Amino acid sequence: MFRFFSYDTLTLFFLLLSSSSSVFPAIATRSPPNPLTELTVDIQNETWHSFIRFLDAGKGSHVTGMAELKKYFQRFGYLSFPENNFTDLFDHEFESALFMYQKNLGLSTTGKLDYDTMKVIMSPRCGVSDTTTPHNLHATKHYAYFYGEPRWTKSSPMILSYAFSPANIIDYISLSDIKTVFRRAFSRWSSVIPVNFTEAGDYSSADIKIGFYKGDHGDGEAFDGVLGVLAHAFSPENGRFHLDAAETWAVDFTAEKSKAAVDLESVATHEIGHVLGLAHSSVKNAIMYPSLSPRTKKVDLKIDDVEGVQALYGSNPNFSYNSLLESNISSSWGFIAMERRNAILVLIVIIFSLCL
Ligand SMILES: [Zn+2]
Ligand SMILES: [Zn+2]
Repeated sequence: MFRFFSYDTLTLFFLLLSSSSSVFPAIATRSPPNPLTELTVDIQNETWHSFIRFLDAGKGSHVTGMAELKKYFQRFGYLSFPENNFTDLFDHEFESALFMYQKNLGLSTTGKLDYDTMKVIMSPRCGVSDTTTPHNLHATKHYAYFYGEPRWTKSSPMILSYAFSPANIIDYISLSDIKTVFRRAFSRWSSVIPVNFTEAGDYSSADIKIGFYKGDHGDGEAFDGVLGVLAHAFSPENGRFHLDAAETWAVDFTAEKSKAAVDLESVATHEIGHVLGLAHSSVKNAIMYPSLSPRTKKVDLKIDDVEGVQALYGSNPNFSYNSLLESNISSSWGFIAMERRNAILVLIVIIFSLCL
């Protein structure tokens, strides 16, 4: 007689099902039983939600509204405005743009609007364009700079001041919590380069001017409401750093339950990279990767980020590459350990299923 059918083991089976909630979304992400549903439900992206209808479109297909997706590609630097308006045809030019997008975002270069590509396209992201020239051709380095490689040129020791716009701030997070988050975000960058950041009392004279803005706010880069574009910042030595006031910003996900909540510290750390002169990276776990899912915290600089910013400013004398490597490796090992645990649980479930 199979002991698998005993009450205890069945209880264990259902306990595994209910307690390992992290297991099943992880599987669903890889081979979705219904990609349409998952993309719709998981991403909760009001702004680019309708792009789901282009899933699996390829060259030669004609889908009503494809022109809107072409505008998205134009906005982020992959297509130039045509002489006439964009058409709804998936043409050769769009395919080339898609290849470039997939390469820049670290995706498989299929030239099709496959599941993985659509998931990234529909994810909330930074408003800064992706079009930059990679700094070098070394296969393991993917960081990039803005055109002309601008950087701050103040004399050494370099100190950059920052301030928050008194008129453009959110009120549902305390100012002291916002300041704490930004202090931590700035300190991550100052720990790797010989640049210090200090909060200025006077907003108008600060090097870096931070504010929360809604919609069109006068710099030609209108924000788009909930999710979609989250923030943008200008290259050196401009210093403007804008966050979309329409987002549900969070400093603590246990307190902020919204499915569309965006981690302020993660976005702050990313935008500071732009303020310093880094463009977007194709390394998915790098801070300078352009997209960030809701309710996700991603605040640690990765080797790609550090190499990129140190090539502009040099290294902080106190910076230790070994400690960065260790923290990068330990987070990778943590991920592998979690994946392994998930795999074991899945195996147990499969064995149960076979026996039942
Ligand atoms: Zn960005
Ligand atoms: Zn702006």
